[in-house]
Amino acid sequence: MHSSRGWARRGVARGSSGRTEDAVRLRGAGAPPAPADAFATRRMPPGVRVRVCLARGRSATYHCAVGGPTTRIEQSLAPVDACPVCGSPRAAPFDSARDTLADEINRYLPPGVAPLEQVTNNRRRCGGCGLVYLDPRLDSRSLSRLYELWYGYAYRRIFQDDRHIAERRREFERHHLRTLDRAAPEAGTLLDVGCGSGIFLAVAARSGWRGVGVEFDPATAASGRLAYGVDIRCGTLAQTIADDERFDAITLFDYLEHSAVPGEDLSLLAARLAPGGVMLVRVPNQGGWQARWMGARWVNVISNHLSYFEPQVLAGALRKRGLQIVSVRAGNYRSEWQIVRGHWHWLGQRLGATVGAPGGTSPADGATLRPSAAPGALSRYLNSVFVEQIDHVGGWFGRGNNLMVVARRP
Ligand SMILES: [Zn+2]
Repeated sequence: MHSSRGWARRGVARGSSGRTEDAVRLRGAGAPPAPADAFATRRMPPGVRVRVCLARGRSATYHCAVGGPTTRIEQSLAPVDACPVCGSPRAAPFDSARDTLADEINRYLPPGVAPLEQVTNNRRRCGGCGLVYLDPRLDSRSLSRLYELWYGYAYRRIFQDDRHIAERRREFERHHLRTLDRAAPEAGTLLDVGCGSGIFLAVAARSGWRGVGVEFDPATAASGRLAYGVDIRCGTLAQTIADDERFDAITLFDYLEHSAVPGEDLSLLAARLAPGGVMLVRVPNQGGWQARWMGARWVNVISNHLSYFEPQVLAGALRKRGLQIVSVRAGNYRSEWQIVRGHWHWLGQRLGATVGAPGGTSPADGATLRPSAAPGALSRYLNSVFVEQIDHVGGWFGRGNNLMVVARRP
C-alpha cells in the first residue's frame, strides 16, 4: 500500500495513442491526492494506452480496450413483453428510482474508461404471478458490457479480498451448507448455478458433495478452478448442462435475480433434479422489511437485478414446476457483531482501497489506485448502518433481506 502523500507527489499519468505522447500531471507536489477524481474528469481518445507511474518507481500500463469518453458505453433499455417467470403479459406499474449500480462500478474504473451513464429502474408487478420485475430493462448487449465492467474492475477487487472470502465461506458453512445437509442428509452430486469463484463448491466438498459449478464469467471461473480445484463450467445453463445429467442437489445462490429468463432456468433445472433431489434458491427478499421500507431505493434494486421475488412468488414458481416446498425462510445470517465488523471493513475499503488493475496479463498487476472518499460518504455510511438494522430486526420475524426457499422433487 502506498501512502496518500506518496501518490500525490508522484502521481503522473501519460496517455499514448501511438504517435503522440501527452503527459498530464494529476496534482502538483504536496497537493491533496485525488487520483480517482482526476481520472474521472480526464478526456482520453478511444483506444488510448495509459501509463500510470506509482510511488517507489512502480508503474503500470492500462489498455483502455473499452474505449474513451468519445465512445461511451451505451446503456440501452428494452421493453419486457411478458413476465419473465410466468409469461403473463399483464403487469401494472410498481415503482421507480434512479439506479445506483453505475455509481458503484464507476468508482473502480481505470483511466480512459468512460463512466457508465445512469439509468432509471422502473419496476412493474406481474398480474399473473405477482413477480416484481424491471420493465424496461437493459438489453442483453448493455447488460453484458455492464458485467464486463463489474467483473473486470469492481467485483475483481471483492473476490480477491481475503476478508470477503472468509466472510462468504463462513456464511456458506454456517448457513447454506447446514440448510443443504438438513434437506439432503446424504451427500451426492451437486450443481451450483452462478457459482462465482467456487467457494460453496469447496465448502460442500468437505461434507462429501461432488460438485459442479456453472459460472458466466471466464476469469472468475478460472480463478475458482485454480484456487479450489473445483469443476467449474463456463457458459449458459443450456450450453453447460447436458439433457441427461441429473443432480441430487441444485443450488442457486444470488443467481436468479440476475437471470433474464428465470422461469426458463427453473424449468430446466427442475428437470435436472434426480427423484428426491433438492433445490435451494436464495434471492433478495422483496417481501422483507428493508424492501418494504425502502421501496425502489432498496439497496437490491439495481439495473442488473431483473426480478424481485416475494416468498410466495418464488415458492409458487417452484411448485408450478412440480417441486414440493420444504422450507421458506428469511431470517438473519449474521450476528450484530458481524454486522458492525462488516461495516468497519467496508468503511476501510472506501477510505483506502486497493484496486487491482484490469486485464490480468499486463504489467499493471499489483498496481494500486486509491479511490478518494466521495463527498457525503460518512452520512451514506451512517444511513447504511441504520438501514441494515431494519434488515436485522426484520430477520427476527422472518422478514430479512435474504430469502431461502428449499424445494424437493417428489
Ligand atoms: Zn408472472
